[in-house]
Amino acid sequence: MPLIVHKYGGTSMGSPERIRNVAKRVAKWARAGHQMVVVPSAMSGETNRLLALAKELAPSRVSPAYNRELDMLAATGEQASSALLAIALQAEGMESVSYAGWQVPIRTDSSYTKARIESIDDQRVRADLNAGKVVIVTGFQGIDEQGHITTLGRGGSDTSAVAVAAAMKAHECLIYTDVDGVYTTDPRVAPAARRLTTVSFEEMLEMASLGSKVLQIRSVEFAGKYKVPMRVLSSFTPWDIDIHEEAQSGTLITFEEDEKMEQAVVSGIAFNRDEAKISVLGVPDTPGIAYRILGPVADANIEVDVIIQNLSKDGKTDFSFTVHRNDYARTVELLKEKVLPVLGAQEVVGDAKICKISIVGIGMRSHVGVASTMFRVLSEEGINIQMISTSEIKTSVVIDEKYLELAVRALHTAFGLDKPAE
Ligand code: ADP
Ligand code: ASP
Ligand code: MG
Repeated sequence: MPLIVHKYGGTSMGSPERIRNVAKRVAKWARAGHQMVVVPSAMSGETNRLLALAKELAPSRVSPAYNRELDMLAATGEQASSALLAIALQAEGMESVSYAGWQVPIRTDSSYTKARIESIDDQRVRADLNAGKVVIVTGFQGIDEQGHITTLGRGGSDTSAVAVAAAMKAHECLIYTDVDGVYTTDPRVAPAARRLTTVSFEEMLEMASLGSKVLQIRSVEFAGKYKVPMRVLSSFTPWDIDIHEEAQSGTLITFEEDEKMEQAVVSGIAFNRDEAKISVLGVPDTPGIAYRILGPVADANIEVDVIIQNLSKDGKTDFSFTVHRNDYARTVELLKEKVLPVLGAQEVVGDAKICKISIVGIGMRSHVGVASTMFRVLSEEGINIQMISTSEIKTSVVIDEKYLELAVRALHTAFGLDKPAE
């Protein structure tokens, strides 16, 4: 019997009615002769609700002890939705059992709030499957070596699902969500966005890492590492849709590049509103600047993304980089206290109202002028580019956040990604 993993996101699990629909869909798959493992997210809004409660009691304390409790707290969301789904399946006449991450167990490292899965024991799940049960495994969570509950970072249920699929050598991992696949860009921002029937693993990895929240990046990494066949599709189709039609719907993540050869140079546009820009001005231009500025930042466990250093003038230069918006205040403070006095730089300034927009496509490898088209389109819209970063298959720019929609839509049209007019 082929083993299939289904993952349902928060909106898909958002109410008793929706959970009942999920149960009916899963029961349909089981009755069609599949062994079923289902990985649900918490009901929509629940993770935010829980984390907001913690913030109300202790705003933005960064300590392992605090983060441990955040994970204790947030993990309850998935525990509840998993039990509810098992109950709904039982009501559909299916034998079903739910497990929290620690019961499987899904073992992770101890980086609370952003833990990484290290291994998954498949024995318990397999025994239940062989006994004819549908097994529900909570998304988003695991257990570390000391027995503490951990969570995998926002959107982490995608990763749980793909990791479970990899560990169980599942036939396919189906990610059910509130859109009917992966689009050329977020359809909420560009209504002309088009669904891709396939997207290469490499492009999906770039899009996820550059901000497309449709899949958590680690889920794509897992899929690539273990070659897990993976598809993104809608949970809002009628549950009794023909199963063969359903199995072909949505977007397939492909691992063969050749399939994409004839496709567009740019396949998608990703954006990220979660970054902030920090500049250290008037730095004496001597060897080792980057290290002396970014060393303390790295030591504080703050991730840096785009970096630029301007040409020097009169022996001084400006050095800018971006960090996650949550780390913005902490980074500015750190630079003012530890770096400014030592370096003899003039000042530290920042801007938390920026965004990063990226064009992505494996076709960019063999085409020149793609980046310059991007720059031209933005200049025609009067949008100033503050930073640029490129790799073989993407070009990213940092711009003022207020131009995000305008820039995404203009680039979407310019690169021929708009869906044909109806
Ligand atoms: P879930 O709760 O099912 O995990 P998410 O909200 O995490 O759902 O992800 C689905 C959302 O991702 C969509 O509603 C859409 O707004 C957003 N999104 C961003 N970029 C894309 C894209 N390129 N294609 C499809 N959806 C995207
Ligand atoms: N419930 C978690 C979140 O909101 C995990 C997930 O939905 O994938 O981030
Ligand atoms: Mg998600």
